[in-house]
Amino acid sequence: MIKRRLRTTPVPGTSDSYTGINFNLGYHIRGYELDLTYRVAPNLLMGTATLRMDNYHALDSLTLDLANSLRVEKVSAIGTAGTRVEVARFRHSDRKLRITFRNQIPVDQEFSLVIRYRGNPRPVRSQWGMIGWEELSNGSLVASQPCGAPSWLPCDDTPDEKALFDVKIAVDNGYSAIATGELIGRSVSGSMTTWHYRTREGMATYLAAIHVGDYEEVSLGKAASGVPVLAYIPRGSSALKARILHDFSKQVAMVDAYEELFGPYPFSSYRVVITEDDLEIPLEAHGLSTFGANHATGKDTWERLIAHELSHQWFGNSLGLAQWNDIWLNEGFACYAEWLWLEKAGVKSAAASALSFYEELAKLPQDLLLADPGAKDMFDDRVYKRGALTVHALRVLLGDAAFFSAIQSYVAEGRHGLVEPRDLKRHLYMVSTDHAALDALWNSWLRELPLPEFPTA
Ligand SMILES: [Zn+2]
Repeated sequence: MIKRRLRTTPVPGTSDSYTGINFNLGYHIRGYELDLTYRVAPNLLMGTATLRMDNYHALDSLTLDLANSLRVEKVSAIGTAGTRVEVARFRHSDRKLRITFRNQIPVDQEFSLVIRYRGNPRPVRSQWGMIGWEELSNGSLVASQPCGAPSWLPCDDTPDEKALFDVKIAVDNGYSAIATGELIGRSVSGSMTTWHYRTREGMATYLAAIHVGDYEEVSLGKAASGVPVLAYIPRGSSALKARILHDFSKQVAMVDAYEELFGPYPFSSYRVVITEDDLEIPLEAHGLSTFGANHATGKDTWERLIAHELSHQWFGNSLGLAQWNDIWLNEGFACYAEWLWLEKAGVKSAAASALSFYEELAKLPQDLLLADPGAKDMFDDRVYKRGALTVHALRVLLGDAAFFSAIQSYVAEGRHGLVEPRDLKRHLYMVSTDHAALDALWNSWLRELPLPEFPTA
């Protein structure tokens, strides 16, 4: 069962004010079943997507998001007993696949769309650069935040529509396909191997990923709770492998630390993929994170980012965003989790990290509203730092015992669902003895521009 938000459905004709994507209205997708084949050398993706859906409006037609680099060959529909659903025609342009039905589908039916497509996937252009399916020197990756999923599958690309995923992908023997979800099985047929993954929990489309490459699976150990932690390391360079094993050697201890602070790890395993290519930034996916070779220096240079990406499994992946303007709920917490890790590891107190970043932040223009930074500044470092400082200010105000108990109940309640700032605030209220002070803090950090005073006990 997938928990859904109870917010009102977006107004028809409107678009996501951050990604610019026009909302696809009238239905929910409950499950994506992807049956894919990927040839590395020609960067060719072929497949069939079966979308299990139901509709909350009567539908004559509907739209899905799909990049123009993929060509739709066939669309058909499967109704259920009593409901005939037939596709009259489809049109694919401008990153939208519009499907028109022969007869109107009455409200509240269950049906599936079967979409056969192929093409040379490439990242989609966005105001944050090129995102989505990307060819590497020997393989490919997917990094979709916030709106790159249509670069490889037809979908409803909005963070609040979590769905189950069942993905089969055939790749040339010798390559691994590492996808989000649990590995169900692997079978060889001729020169191709099919890898089968399934999610147990609903996943936002931007967190769905597939990595294809010549990877070696290496166990990094098990968390105290039993969660296995695995690394996927490019085969062939023992120097790179040594750097990775060194820099990721604390990954298991990080899982232990965060389980203690935030509550149980939300997925059945944690996997890190390190690509042979350098990457600009690491990125989180569902139960998985992606780093470039440049992020493993052998000198712990990016320890804070290794911690940061892990913490997104709680903040962002399990607790999903209902809308992008709440991005600080992901990035503020992930950045604060970096400081918490350094504190746990005995390197530096979170208060000391907070102070040094506060001093840096104070030098920058204070023209960004944390509660709604706008698309342009969505991934601005000030969102991360002011977000983390907000979390720190809450901790200072409430004291450790109350603060961490509120965070744990917030995390437990939102598990595999969607959260909004008011959900967090509700949990903070429950442990707070001074609601007026909490309101004042909340407003000054989130809803006003000037940088508040540095929080001290
Ligand atoms: Zn992040």
